[in-house]
Amino acid sequence: MQKNTNTFIPPANDFVFNLAAYQPGKPITELSRELGIPEHKIIKLASNENPLGMSRKAKQALQQLLNSDNDGIARYPDQFPLIKKISQRCNLNTNQIVLGNGSNNILDIAGKIFLNKNTNAVCSEFAFAVYHLSTLAANSHIRVAKAKDFGHDLNAMFELCDENTRIIWIANPNNPTGTFLPHQQIYDFIAKVNQKFANNVIIMDEAYNEYLPPAKRGDATKWLVDFPNLIVTRTFSKIYGLAGLRIGYSAMSAELADLFHRVRTPFNANNLALLAAEVALDDEQFLEESYQLNAEGMAFLEQGLQKLGFDFIASSGNFITMFCDPKAGKNASEINQKLLQNGVIVRPLVGYKMPDHLRITIGTKAENQRFLEVLAKI
Ligand SMILES: *Cc1c(COP(=O)(O)O)cnc(C)c1O
Repeated sequence: MQKNTNTFIPPANDFVFNLAAYQPGKPITELSRELGIPEHKIIKLASNENPLGMSRKAKQALQQLLNSDNDGIARYPDQFPLIKKISQRCNLNTNQIVLGNGSNNILDIAGKIFLNKNTNAVCSEFAFAVYHLSTLAANSHIRVAKAKDFGHDLNAMFELCDENTRIIWIANPNNPTGTFLPHQQIYDFIAKVNQKFANNVIIMDEAYNEYLPPAKRGDATKWLVDFPNLIVTRTFSKIYGLAGLRIGYSAMSAELADLFHRVRTPFNANNLALLAAEVALDDEQFLEESYQLNAEGMAFLEQGLQKLGFDFIASSGNFITMFCDPKAGKNASEINQKLLQNGVIVRPLVGYKMPDHLRITIGTKAENQRFLEVLAKI
């Protein structure tokens, strides 16, 4: 073997070289290092995290656990108590629930199970970036249906399906656009797909389900009786405020769940996350508070953006995506830079091929005010 000290080409699968790493929202610590702004003067409205933090009850439970002599941290985790609680909530059997290290983990396992280079997956333009990543990381092909008003066009998605389609990714509400489809439309879509094709799973990603007003909030887990090829994913990262602990869950037929258990890593949810999730699920008061804060913040930001002459995409999530019209002399990248210089982190959407949009997570009242003040100033 020839020795070459300058370049090392890792012996990886070819397709891996074509992947691009996920671009997360800029951490507060990073902006502080870059611009020398003290951390406490920075607000982050970039990753759809809960501005209230985590449920106080969950926090107390964690503190209690860590203060006890028998914290169990040296032991491998037992997923059963959380699985049991979720299965009871959804009125399903425990063998229909699969946990993940964040729901992202579940999406990734799905890619591994169902996709390869001879198959394809279908998603919508402007849909959550992880659908591309999980598909491409399985050496498979992603087919992207043109969006309708920035949301999923189910007919266009149907047109892209064929005999080799193994996964159809649906985000409802979608991130980063906040668009929402009435549940009946998705139900009818799945029925139509299943009538024509026999070899695919539909992944319904409901990361923002809890932010929907009760009248719009559906429960796709109820459809599992009709659709054994449906996978519903939810997360504790958003309204439950546990993004840093990494935990999500999914509901599906027992046949599908069995496959997930074969492919997932054995301990893909840690002790602290399992406990916090279990407590957070029951903290109705915190959920209500978070929901209200978001609804008020959304209305406040919508009005504020309107006053400043910015269009936005009506959102059903905990974020709002604003349009910086170049024809009106607005430049999203410049606005983003100036926001950063003023200690405000939002999410540019260049990676989503939406270079003229910025996504702003709804923050606390004070954070929303600060964002609008800085935006007005710049
Ligand atoms: C945030 C988000 C998730 C959840 O990610 P986690 O891995 O659970 O933190 C999943 N889907 C969408 C559309 C999201 O925006």
